[in-house]
Amino acid sequence: TTTITRGLETTGLAKSFGGVHAVDNATVAFHHGKVNALIGPNGSGKTTFFNCVTGMIKPDAGSVSYRGEDITGRPPHRIARAGIGRSFQLCRVFPRMTVLENLLASVRSPTLPGWLRSARQRGDIERARELLMRVGIDHLEHAEARDLSYGQQKLLELAGVLMTDPETIMLDEPAGGVNPALLDRIANLVRALNAEGKTFLIVEHNMDLVMSLSDHVVVFDRGAPIAEGSPDEVRADPRVLEAYLGS
Ligand code: ADP
Repeated sequence: TTTITRGLETTGLAKSFGGVHAVDNATVAFHHGKVNALIGPNGSGKTTFFNCVTGMIKPDAGSVSYRGEDITGRPPHRIARAGIGRSFQLCRVFPRMTVLENLLASVRSPTLPGWLRSARQRGDIERARELLMRVGIDHLEHAEARDLSYGQQKLLELAGVLMTDPETIMLDEPAGGVNPALLDRIANLVRALNAEGKTFLIVEHNMDLVMSLSDHVVVFDRGAPIAEGSPDEVRADPRVLEAYLGS
């Protein structure tokens, strides 16, 4: 017998903008504990789907659940608290803060009393330094984020996502605009983190990366999945080729 751990799932998810059905009755179950990729032609609804799942926008219909718990329509901080962290397509860092300050800002809790905050912050600084080492930009701790290369900023953003130790990590185009050397580093990080038990859900255009990195690929077209399976399975699926050619 096989036990299936329920992870991130959507049922009949829908979101329209005016008359455009960006996400259209999408039912998807991602594989918990694996590296999942979400691919599809431009405009197929991947970003909107991502935003519905992470609480950035509210779906019009359908539901999102995580490990069996309904998280539909929850605000982003509550989705994060449920164990889902995310990065953004156009990298979100505070340009005038230092690298270390950026990481501390990603876990700041302004509601804590001062004495508790300072104790917590010592732990946070330690963790931030560990993560900077892990993503390989610890030498840039005191640099302002705006002085980092785009790829380094993406590594900083990833470290920020890891600060809260999410169980599931959603990455929106981690390879976009990143040079090949840093691309390898990002791919290796994803593999290592996955081996430590993190689930990944990655929207990515770089097909070589998708095919080499993913265990499970979900293909979107016109707002809903049209195919899914291993990289080899989706590569061989005529519906996938058709979707890309037709776009
Ligand atoms: P993808 O990420 O796969 O490229 P998107 O989710 O960005 O797809 O877009 C899906 C469809 O929804 C597209 O037709 C896009 O133009 C439309 N869309 C996305 N966001 C908005 C918005 N805020 N307002 C109007 N239309 C939108």
